[in-house]
Amino acid sequence: MKRILMQQAPFNEPVKIEGFLEHVRNTRYMAFLVVRDSSGRLQATIEKQLHPEWTELLESLTVESVVSLEGIITENPQVKLRGRELIPTKLEVLSLAAPLPLTKEANIDTRLDYRWIDLRGEKERLLFQVQTCLVAAMREFLLQRNFLEIHTPKLIAAASESGADVFEVGYFDKKAYLAQSPQFYKQMAMAAGFERIFETGPVFRAEKSYTNRHTTEFTGFDLEFSYIESFQDVMQLEAELLTYALERVEEMYGEAILRHYGVKVVVPKLPFPVIALPELYRELERRYGYHLPESERGDTTTEAEQLSYRFSMEEFGHEFLLITDFAADKRAFYHMCKEGVPQGYDLVWRGVEITTGAQREHRYDVLCCQAEERGLGEDVKFYTEFFRYGCPPHGGFGIGVDRLTMLLLGVGIKEAMFLFRSPNRLTP
Ligand code: ATP
Repeated sequence: MKRILMQQAPFNEPVKIEGFLEHVRNTRYMAFLVVRDSSGRLQATIEKQLHPEWTELLESLTVESVVSLEGIITENPQVKLRGRELIPTKLEVLSLAAPLPLTKEANIDTRLDYRWIDLRGEKERLLFQVQTCLVAAMREFLLQRNFLEIHTPKLIAAASESGADVFEVGYFDKKAYLAQSPQFYKQMAMAAGFERIFETGPVFRAEKSYTNRHTTEFTGFDLEFSYIESFQDVMQLEAELLTYALERVEEMYGEAILRHYGVKVVVPKLPFPVIALPELYRELERRYGYHLPESERGDTTTEAEQLSYRFSMEEFGHEFLLITDFAADKRAFYHMCKEGVPQGYDLVWRGVEITTGAQREHRYDVLCCQAEERGLGEDVKFYTEFFRYGCPPHGGFGIGVDRLTMLLLGVGIKEAMFLFRSPNRLTP
């Protein structure tokens, strides 16, 4: 007989279900097994005198073993699990579980050591259902607008952008690096005339950060598009994209997220509020007495990002805030500048940066100058070449998928990823 998911299993006809044994209660006359698969849970009720051949098996059953059951599902209002139970005619253990090495109350680091067990819960599964929905909706939004999905290499010959923060790897008799962003290749696609592209892929950062929002490997959702008039077009596209995706998540999982994570999914209103950084600092100082350290002038700080959430809610009733007018020396050399002001932005959601976006410098001479000013001329020559033979004006942004998930559900980054990576965690 073919296995069927519990949620789809019909009443009163023979079915076969398979899953993890969540709970076993083996009493003198009756045994109750709660079995869980990816669709839900079901109780199997066994009248022991009908199956003396199972006596030993029932005694040996351990929690989280994988079992296979055949039988008939009937209605029984006394059963807590949706008022139904399986009366089995066949019972088989597919994999007997050893005693579990962790409890539900274990701290997050122990949970990560045994992530495959930790992830068996409904709440943990929900996170990945939500993430799947979020990314699928973003992909759908872009495909509807004629974006191409590309896949760029993560093994690269030269350290992209600044050269700091990259992992060096042995590459036969040479050195290679792990890409810290798909930035250069996204722009190469613009020079190739693709006009609109996106990519979801791994991003590596050799940063020794131990915050609740940094990891050394994360998933980036990056896009780039051509023939923009200014970075306003980029901000607008991102706002529409996120609104579309959050609307979908709210519709499909809003209620479950509230139940399991206690967080309300708010579908944002368009347009997103925008503020220039100097103006934001004036407001944070005036309203909350925040003083910006001199060394951070022209950039955001973690504390300022946190306060900007309060400001954005008070001033605009909006969870998102677009911040513009950063200092040129705090931004990447390839951002376009107009009168010394980088034509880009950061997007802060619930007090944490989720995106950096910008119009890029597509004019070969200007770009080379900007690279030269940072002393990067030779390092990025392969990249500046992309702009020598004609390239349309363009811009784009990168969103951290794990950050997005983390903020959406109000958890830390360690929990928001399938497997977290940090300077002191490379396993499992
Ligand atoms: P931060 O200031 O938070 O370190 P960043 O300025 O280095 O981030 P970008 O290089 O602009 O970030 O990367 C784009 C997006 O990728 C960020 O807005 C964020 O969502 C995500 N991101 C960046 N670094 C990390 C990281 N170490 N861990 C998880 N996500 C990250």
